[in-house]
Amino acid sequence: MKKHNFSAGPCILPQEVFLKASEAVMDFNGSGLSLIEISHRSKEFVDIMEKARTLALELLGLEGKGYQALFLQGGASLEFLMAAYNLLDKKAGYLNTGAWSEKAIKEAKIFGEVVEVGSSKDENFNYIPKGYTVPDDLDYLHLTSNNTIFGTQVKKFPKTTVPLVCDMSSDIFSRQLDFTQFDLIYAGAQKNMGAAGTTLVVVKEDVLGKVSRKIPSMLDYKVHISKDSMFNTPAVFAVYTCMLTLEWLKNLGGIPAIEEINEKKAQLLYSEIDLNPVFEGFAKMEDRSHMNATFNLADEKLKETFDAMWKEAGINGLNGHRSVGGYRASMYNAMSLESVGILVDVMSEMERKG
Ligand code: PMP
Repeated sequence: MKKHNFSAGPCILPQEVFLKASEAVMDFNGSGLSLIEISHRSKEFVDIMEKARTLALELLGLEGKGYQALFLQGGASLEFLMAAYNLLDKKAGYLNTGAWSEKAIKEAKIFGEVVEVGSSKDENFNYIPKGYTVPDDLDYLHLTSNNTIFGTQVKKFPKTTVPLVCDMSSDIFSRQLDFTQFDLIYAGAQKNMGAAGTTLVVVKEDVLGKVSRKIPSMLDYKVHISKDSMFNTPAVFAVYTCMLTLEWLKNLGGIPAIEEINEKKAQLLYSEIDLNPVFEGFAKMEDRSHMNATFNLADEKLKETFDAMWKEAGINGLNGHRSVGGYRASMYNAMSLESVGILVDVMSEMERKG
């Protein structure tokens, strides 16, 4: 039976990526060797790393614009620390839109003063603060573009005079944005890119080298840039899956093509949430994420029936995060409109039953 995987991450990837990645583990390009046993210094792997880095910049429209793409390790969680280590000299601003922002803030406080320019904590992060002011003496402003747990997404980024840093872990490559407005973007691979184990960092080179502290080599973006993202042994398998997914996306027509599909999926699910009295959306309408839709049952007594029904339909990973409860349908790039349709069918069946 076909599974419809709505898991928040690690999560669904394109079938052709699973297939090509598994072939490469058994026999990489007919070499008689596995991808995961060849040297990361071999031409074969160096080419994979280069291709992944180039595709990332190309898809974001950042090629030839002073940016570098790196595939590092330590997850987006290490970037909470690295971003501050490399950029925070005195004071940084953070928009607090949820658990991941809070974790980023905690790390940044180790390195300097943190100003929370806005927060949606007062309503359990079900909206994106707006109309906040950004002091112009900040080293940077940090935002989380998509709040995986709460299902909110920043639709409009502030115009700032200070560098803009963005955690795009759960919506990178999913929608068109002017990516030149960002000076540093980071994203764990395990949602829209590939297997867990690597983090994409896209950095504008001219924002680096401005802090007075010494930076340990492994945490220094400049070191990783100078070594073409090969300062130490990269996560070879994870980087390969990223390369395959980025190739898949390019062949599909890039971000504009996937954005159109993502909009259709989100529209289909949110209109069911809004029209079906059995369900209630969690996030404020204007801030709803196109990647993670959060919703609850209007009557908790229906939980057992609904849970049995979606499991029966082959749906996986629909439970909400423990801090929000209810349900969360993650519809990353590789999720088909058909799978969202299956979920919507189950939801409307619930209405008929209820
Ligand atoms: N930021 C966001 C928005 C996330 O969704 C996650 C993981 N779900 C993280 C950061 C942390 O990523 P990692 O587990 O790769 O450290």
